[in-house]
Amino acid sequence: MSMIDEVIQKVKSKDKDQPEFIQAVTEVMETLRPTVDKHPEFVKAKIYERIVEPDRMIIFRVPWEDDNHEVQVNRGFRVQFNNAIGPYKGGLRLHPSVNLSIVKFLGFEQLFKNALTTLPMGGSKGGSDFDPKGKSDAEVMRFTYAFMRELYRHIGPDTDVPAGDIGVGGREIGYLFGYYKKIVNEHTGVLTGKGLEYGGSLIRPQATGYGVTYFAAEMLATRGTDFGGKVVAISGSGNVAQYAVEKVTQLGGKVITMSDSNGVVVDEEGINAEKLVFVMDLKDVRRGRISEYLHKYPQAKYFGGKSVWDVIKEESLHVDVALPCATQNEISEDHASALVKNGVVCVAEGANMPSLLGAIKIFQDNHVLFGPAKAANAGGVAVSGLEMSQNSMRLSWTSEEVDSRLRDIMKSIHKASLEAAEAYGRKGDYLAGANIAGFIKVARAMLAYGIV
Ligand code: NDP
Repeated sequence: MSMIDEVIQKVKSKDKDQPEFIQAVTEVMETLRPTVDKHPEFVKAKIYERIVEPDRMIIFRVPWEDDNHEVQVNRGFRVQFNNAIGPYKGGLRLHPSVNLSIVKFLGFEQLFKNALTTLPMGGSKGGSDFDPKGKSDAEVMRFTYAFMRELYRHIGPDTDVPAGDIGVGGREIGYLFGYYKKIVNEHTGVLTGKGLEYGGSLIRPQATGYGVTYFAAEMLATRGTDFGGKVVAISGSGNVAQYAVEKVTQLGGKVITMSDSNGVVVDEEGINAEKLVFVMDLKDVRRGRISEYLHKYPQAKYFGGKSVWDVIKEESLHVDVALPCATQNEISEDHASALVKNGVVCVAEGANMPSLLGAIKIFQDNHVLFGPAKAANAGGVAVSGLEMSQNSMRLSWTSEEVDSRLRDIMKSIHKASLEAAEAYGRKGDYLAGANIAGFIKVARAMLAYGIV
């Protein structure tokens, strides 16, 4: 059995109850095979075995009181995966599905993604099985305070810097930062995604959605084309999806889908800037459901209980570019085959691990440009890194400056992924290239430290 197979097997037997983590490790390790012969020094130092084991995993009780004065108990997580190249950095997810497997898979992916950004950040991730849906602002505040009451002792601006993810937006970051500041008595860059008034960066809310669009534009450019006139399918209607819709539309594409966990809107006339303003108000201010889009735009169609990819398959919708921006494992093999049949030329992952391994293979076998999450959605954490820099320097850059740095970072991630793929015999394979480029940087740092 090869060393890589042994590492995968060990994770499968040690972490057998963690399917998402096993999936993420398998995906990365499979693509690292070409590095083994070229780097005997990594093999000798057992970097491959060490890199799949987090530095530490913190699991804690989060008790809080709801509006009826009932005590509720949730479980909190922070997995500090690896800080070889910088302080731990990664988002917090609030969703009922959150468990150790999901947090570990996200932390592992984050490690390689952060290495690709060119900025000095290690990898971590956290969250809780708390469901913010249907909770009052006061309940969300009490929960986030209770969560921070334990988390604060494990984080710090030079130790571990959390940010948002699913279920954690501006409101939650405000509560988390406010409580941290209160109990630690320090106003530092301990969280990113902060409001502009208290240390946030311009363009941070837009960064992941803009970044995935910039990355897709770079991929399209390798085939001599761009977003102009392209039909684009986007899933989700949260932070990443909203700003992907905005940037795609600005670049001349026509977005025909958005979704939430209840269903999908298809608007074949295109979800333009005016309609997007309605969606942003609906989802972020009124906290409504995407089905309400039809109240305002009745020519659109709504498909309840389905994903964007189900609808494309069942309705045979033509799509040139697909940007999955909702959650993990959205795109199955069947969905991928339907996308290929319906004309897709480019898939860039806004969400983390939205495509199953079999789906990725179908895209690659059919010469679809496939941009994996850790490269394509790295714009969010990249601008978080820029927020940390601005906090340390105690100054703020203009939105033009941050956007231009974001565009340059996405270009350099695209280039680094292509170059690593070519150098290791996988020309044109962005998945292998991104994994290898991120891995080499972390592995070299780990090697420099000896056996710690
Ligand atoms: P939000 O909570 O803002 O939005 C998530 C969207 O996806 C919502 O529309 C939500 O629907 C939908 N969704 C969530 N879970 C499911 C599910 N199980 N099935 C169907 N739809 C679902 O999160 P973000 O936009 O921040 O994150 C989306 C993805 O992007 C995640 O994978 C995240 O890890 C990734 N990501 C986010 C970054 C960021 O900067 N925010 C950075 C890099 C990656 P509903 O409204 O019904 O909950």
